[in-house]
Amino acid sequence: MSPDVDVAVVGAGIAGLTAATELRRAGLDVRVYEAAERIGGRMATARVDGCAIDTGAEQISPRGYPATWDLLRRLNFRPSDVPPIGRPIAMWRDGEAHLGFGSARGLLTGAGLSPRARLDLLRLPTRIDPERPESSSLGDATVTALASRHHPDVHDYLLQPAASFCLWDPRRSSAAVLLGMQQAVGSASTWRTYREGMDQPCRRMAAELDVVIGRPVSEVVSGGDSARLRVGEGVITARQVLLCVPAPVAAALHANPPAAEAEFLTACTFTSAIKVAIPLEAPVALPGRPYLLITPRAEEDLLAAILFDHLKHPDRVPAGKGMVTAVVNAESTPELLAAPDHEVVSRVIEAARRYLPVSGAAHVHRHAHALPECTPAALAALPGFRGRAIGPVDYAGDWVNLRPHSEGAVRTAALAASRALSRFGAAVPV
Ligand SMILES: Cc1cc2nc3c(=O)[nH]c(=O)nc-3n(C[C@H](O)[C@H](O)[C@H](O)COP(=O)(O)OP(=O)(O)OC[C@H]3O[C@@H](n4cnc5c(N)ncnc54)[C@H](O)[C@@H]3O)c2cc1C
Repeated sequence: MSPDVDVAVVGAGIAGLTAATELRRAGLDVRVYEAAERIGGRMATARVDGCAIDTGAEQISPRGYPATWDLLRRLNFRPSDVPPIGRPIAMWRDGEAHLGFGSARGLLTGAGLSPRARLDLLRLPTRIDPERPESSSLGDATVTALASRHHPDVHDYLLQPAASFCLWDPRRSSAAVLLGMQQAVGSASTWRTYREGMDQPCRRMAAELDVVIGRPVSEVVSGGDSARLRVGEGVITARQVLLCVPAPVAAALHANPPAAEAEFLTACTFTSAIKVAIPLEAPVALPGRPYLLITPRAEEDLLAAILFDHLKHPDRVPAGKGMVTAVVNAESTPELLAAPDHEVVSRVIEAARRYLPVSGAAHVHRHAHALPECTPAALAALPGFRGRAIGPVDYAGDWVNLRPHSEGAVRTAALAASRALSRFGAAVPV
């Protein structure tokens, strides 16, 4: 009996849609199943009362995102579709915002770091390969272990806040992944955002594909040359299944993964996240007009950062209005994840008032699976997973190569598409 489709993609985030686009272009019959009622996954944008709220990802970089820029060219994006944000990031210390965090300017101004700590930065390892972080001289050191070799400021005002930006607990996550990623993406002052919202590439790809929304897949079983998927009450067969969902979801769905895959799927834990978008009657700004204020644990108990959406791109809000988004820190998120919205909003607004005059209604967005934690255990299991055999069930997503951002998702999606094509060989009806 011939399979129902050539390729079934599970998940309509940027990884699933990228892989589906590549395979569709190769002439295959591809169907994407998405559990939610909308596409985009962690790169979705909610449109409420004229505001475009990026519920997950916020920006991309001109550096360190080669697979993304390649994809955007093929989707006919123009440079004006991905404008530079053009504003600095600030770090809160001792009651004021210090500009230049994560950029070359920060090396001059300190961006909140004391002169001794700045000198200490010269001892941090450079040239970490973001594709092979496990081979760096940092070995399996966590962010906290690396920081303990340096001036306390390096932990409090550089590495902890940088880890927090990945929604990580620095005691659990790999220093090599963090530094490798930062070195690859370069200066924060060059970062860009999608003009129409972070879901812009996903929307463009989905428009050309067979995407079924509101249809969770509940089980995937590989067997011989094809795989079976349970979708709602029915079962469909596909010659190739691509699981483009976070690792813990893939682990729960795939009934019979080979041992090397199962080990990494289990080791690849995720953090969770809560973002609270607060629309404002008028725009607000801090001195120097940063678009992002980092609030380190040394200064703040609840929040990791506050984003100024109207400064990120003016089209995110109606003319004359403003919006800020507060991100809850990794330590407080587990406690608030199941709390009712009104409790989350009241605690977040109370905390945010320390920095800005904010009040009123707000929108809460939660991610049970926000970003791969990239722990030393996951790093150790990565080489075995990377060497997995090509089979009827494969994976794409930011966790597949432990690069916790959308470039990781796009890059592994392109790889999953080419691995799948190698299975179809001459049978592909181009
Ligand atoms: C708060 C936050 C901020 C971020 N900031 C940035 C940033 O600034 N820049 C950046 O580059 N990256 C950022 N990221 C990371 C980026 O969003 C992700 O790397 C990327 O979106 C992952 O895409 P994906 O397709 O791999 O996974 P996802 O986007 O998670 O897509 C998976 C999809 O699968 C669906 N799904 C789940 N289970 C099932 C099922 N059983 N059946 C069918 N469908 C299912 C989900 O609904 C989802 O749509 C951020 C992430 C978060 C959470």
